[in-house]
Formats: sequence, C-alpha cells, structure tokens
Amino acid sequence: MAKLLKSKQKPFKAPLLAILKKVGGKLEHLEEAILLAAGEGKGSEADEFGADSYSREQQLGLIENGDEIKGFVIEALSRINDGAFGSCLACEKLIPLKRLEVLPYAQYCVPCQELDEKGELQLNES
Ligand SMILES: [Zn+2]
Repeated sequence: MAKLLKSKQKPFKAPLLAILKKVGGKLEHLEEAILLAAGEGKGSEADEFGADSYSREQQLGLIENGDEIKGFVIEALSRINDGAFGSCLACEKLIPLKRLEVLPYAQYCVPCQELDEKGELQLNES
C-alpha cells in the first residue's frame, strides 16, 4: 500500500477534529467551514482549486448526513493514528493532497469515488 509520510498525515488531524466538532453541532456551520477551507487556496493556486469544484459539490451533498461524515472523520483520524491516512481504501494508491485538503475525510481517490457512486466499486478483500 502506498503511504503518505507521517509528517504529511499529521497536519490533517486538526481540520478533521474541527469537522468532527462541527458535525457534532450544527450542520450549517460545517458547510461554512468546508467552504472556508476550500477557499483557502494560496492566491496563485486559486485556479487549481477551481478544478476541484466537482469534489466540493460532492462534499456539500454529504453534509445532509452528519452521522455519515462523523463516521468518515473518525475513520480518517484513526488512519492517521495508524499511519495509513491518505491512501485510497479501494485501490490503495495515494489520494492527491489537493483532494485531501478539500475533503480530509475522503476514503477514496477520485476514480474510485466515482465508481463507488455508481455502485461499481469493488473493495479488495483483506
Ligand atoms: Zn482509488
């Protein structure tokens, strides 16, 4: 399994904890937090963030289910503890950091996520 350096996994702990806090509270605030986080591109990289609008929309769709997000966030946090954060749960490739910045609790890379939404994702038996 491809692994993200631990030093690169740790910075995601804070945003994940923040999301967890928000889903425990009011969902409108979570939406706000995600929009803010998504807009935090570093000036010149703003254009690249535009390409992520698709995943951002997906993410906003997920907000309707706070419990589901809570589960994803807790799993992501435990993966950081295990040093396994940042790898796609399906194909085990690294999830691009850009995607993790927008969606820190992403379980899959974009291609696998798309398959999952179509119900075509096959998880490796482990
Ligand atoms: Zn994948």
